[in-house]
Amino acid sequence: MHEFELIQHYFQHKNKRTDVLLGIGDDAALCQVPPDMALAVSVDTLVAGVHFPLDAMAADIGYKALAVNLSDLAAMGATPAWFTLALTLPKADEKWLHAFSEGLTELAHSADIGLIGGDTTRGPLSITVQVMGLVPAGQALRRDRARPGDWVYVTGTLGDAGLGLCVHEYALSAVHQAYVRARLHRPTPRMAWGLALRGLAQCAIDISDGLAADLGHILSRSGCGAEITLTHLPLSDALRTLPAPQAWALALGAGDDYELCFTLAPEQAARLTFPCTRIGTISAVPGLRCFDENNQLWTPPSGYRHF
Ligand code: ADP
Ligand code: MG
Repeated sequence: MHEFELIQHYFQHKNKRTDVLLGIGDDAALCQVPPDMALAVSVDTLVAGVHFPLDAMAADIGYKALAVNLSDLAAMGATPAWFTLALTLPKADEKWLHAFSEGLTELAHSADIGLIGGDTTRGPLSITVQVMGLVPAGQALRRDRARPGDWVYVTGTLGDAGLGLCVHEYALSAVHQAYVRARLHRPTPRMAWGLALRGLAQCAIDISDGLAADLGHILSRSGCGAEITLTHLPLSDALRTLPAPQAWALALGAGDDYELCFTLAPEQAARLTFPCTRIGTISAVPGLRCFDENNQLWTPPSGYRHF
């Protein structure tokens, strides 16, 4: 099959949304944006050997290429609507495309996001997904909306994907190994929780580069700082098998978790409807300060390369 035939074969029939006026096959797609909604747009590229290992499974690559983008929509409080897919492939490998398409389509169906177009080129393996979502403009969750006194929350557990990258360095049980590998290769974008934050929180980010870096983006965009209590960081059973400083270093510094970090006025806390953990407080003093169990300021020992 020719590349475009492959695209048609593997991707064309997978769009069931009624707001796609014209999908794959023309020079551009046509989508109907509801009049009261803002369009949230985000794009991420995964390059083989950089963002995933060269021997990664095609189904995992397809899943993750969409998952990391859905995570960005979640962090804006946007409902997934449409996406485009730009594929650069070394060759038209039907087996690879079949598995890739399955991983991608599985998540696209569950997120109710429709593939509306893309581009296919030959070259070193690289996947670019652009997602589009819908959010009432005034309710979007923005990085520049944290205020001193806000409480800082995270969803899920932190550091799992980072541990998944270096499983061989630790004596983990088979169950814990499988768990952290799954967290690395099949991250769960927190779409429902991002939506639940609409009208409740104003400030959120998804944790793709590690909590310290991503909370740091909130702090610099909002012109404030934060104090974090390390013993409050939510850690999985797998992370808890590590010495605390190593677990903290992974939770703060390793990327790829795709959990949400958000801030909230304390009086709103009782309205939270999904599992999340309060880890600290926004302050007017710039910078991120982490405190250990003795309330001592903690910086990760140098040598913990994930930080
Ligand atoms: P053009 O030359 O006008 O850019 P293309 O020949 O690149 O059009 O693509 C033809 C159609 O196939 C377009 O509608 C495009 O969006 C779609 N398409 C191409 N590659 C992909 C892909 N990887 N995934 C989804 N749709 C694709
Ligand atoms: Mg094109």
